[in-house]
Amino acid sequence: MLRKILIANRGEIAVRIIRACAEMGIRSVAIYSEADRFALHVKKADEAYCIGSEPMSCYLNVHALVDLALATGCDAVHPGYGFLSENAQFARACKERRLIFIGPGADVIHRMGDKTEARNAMKAAGLPVTPGSEGNLNSVEEALEVAEQIGYPVMLKATSGGGGRGIRRCDAAEELKRNHIRVISEATKAFGRADVFLEKCIVNPRHIEVQILADHHGNVIHLYERDCSIQRRNQKLIEIAPSPQLDEAQRQYIGGLAVIAAKSVGYTNAGTVEFLLDDNGRFYFMEMNTRVQVEHTITETITGVDIVEEQIRVAAGLRLRYRQDEIVRRGYAIQFRINAEDPKNSFLPSFGRIARYYAPGGPGVRTDTAIYTGYEIPPFYDSMVAKVIVSALTWEDAIKRGERALRDMGLFGIKTTIPYYLKILKHPQFRIARFNTGFVEQNPTLINYSDKPRPEVLASVIAAAMASHTGL
Ligand code: ADP
Ligand code: ADP
Ligand code: MG
Repeated sequence: MLRKILIANRGEIAVRIIRACAEMGIRSVAIYSEADRFALHVKKADEAYCIGSEPMSCYLNVHALVDLALATGCDAVHPGYGFLSENAQFARACKERRLIFIGPGADVIHRMGDKTEARNAMKAAGLPVTPGSEGNLNSVEEALEVAEQIGYPVMLKATSGGGGRGIRRCDAAEELKRNHIRVISEATKAFGRADVFLEKCIVNPRHIEVQILADHHGNVIHLYERDCSIQRRNQKLIEIAPSPQLDEAQRQYIGGLAVIAAKSVGYTNAGTVEFLLDDNGRFYFMEMNTRVQVEHTITETITGVDIVEEQIRVAAGLRLRYRQDEIVRRGYAIQFRINAEDPKNSFLPSFGRIARYYAPGGPGVRTDTAIYTGYEIPPFYDSMVAKVIVSALTWEDAIKRGERALRDMGLFGIKTTIPYYLKILKHPQFRIARFNTGFVEQNPTLINYSDKPRPEVLASVIAAAMASHTGL
């Protein structure tokens, strides 16, 4: 088994990995930027090292991180999500220096990180793939030609895109021309590559993804699917496992497809195969994520499998501990991504000091976060500050529990997406589990909620109540 792991990440996922290490008796090494000096992952790890003053790029410094891992006596590196998690160079650098990279092989990361290559690989494996360009587009003329062939609307996408960026829908030639320049510029800025491709736009699809696990002994299993259709601008907000919109036959079918996909590329470790489901019940392969996902939590909740622990075991060369027929699921789990954003103000980031925080608790509630009372959220990173995961045996009860848990959570000093989620939970279409990726856009009035009383107001109410009580 591994003895010591360097966690090449920050925030809640770093804390999540530290927790897995602690349970497995593995020492954890955290890294942090100067901006992250007071971050929770720094306090929780067995050791922590400051790696620089550049808030973003220090977490991306492949050679410095490999050097540090070796200097501190680590035998493995866990990349989390984002940052270097899908960087094939990093995986390769680890391997060359005899460090275990906790993820799939560098070649698979490289291949699946290129969305056109991934599409071609999946087509070859017999998976249904959306119609689109053969590979990357060489010019705007070619884009217009392909769009004409497959028919509008089309999606113009950055080949190495991620995190919902570098994707634009185009309904007509003029729009495609405009977006062609935009997406190329976005892709160059965000991903360092200008390549773009086209695929048919599936109008108002459901986003269904399958969690898979694979070891180095040829075993591949799936842990059922997640429904991530509640998105804003192609970014996930609420995720559900399993999808309340699938029947059992669809569930088996999509799980099987994901296993075929993973086997066909020699996949190892944890990964996710993302599909779109159209109104006619057809599934299309969309992309493969070669890392642990933000929403792995809900799959853990319904199956009882600790995905991060399984990642570590598999990377150490151990066999999967479960056969497919041993994977049982129970009930529903919903994850809410609590973002430091103001929904009423175009979801503008709302960084600052957390005046007071307490986690929701009680039955069926899990909170993964790296915030604490008094913590100052640095403005350099992701706006997601916590994940609230609720579960119950039925969809109806999971919704009720979600409402209760979100109200139960105390998070003051910044604006968050919590009141917006409470409105979504009340929506009839959500409650009967009929929604697609257009839900947020189709329901603009959901941001018309009244804000919760501010902490000062609450405090004065409590103080008044206590004064009257002691006066008795
Ligand atoms: P998930 O697919 O796990 O739901 P997201 O798409 O929300 O994950 O991405 C998780 C994090 O990783 C976000 O911070 C996102 O910005 C980042 N990310 C994902 N893909 C890339 C990429 N190709 N390049 C840079 N950052 C990425
Ligand atoms: P990322 O790497 O950023 O996660 P994806 O390719 O997974 O990018 O797409 C992100 C989201 O964009 C999807 O969940 C979906 O809502 C939307 N999307 C992507 N491709 C299409 C498509 N062809 N038709 C309709 N929606 C799409
Ligand atoms: Mg995706």
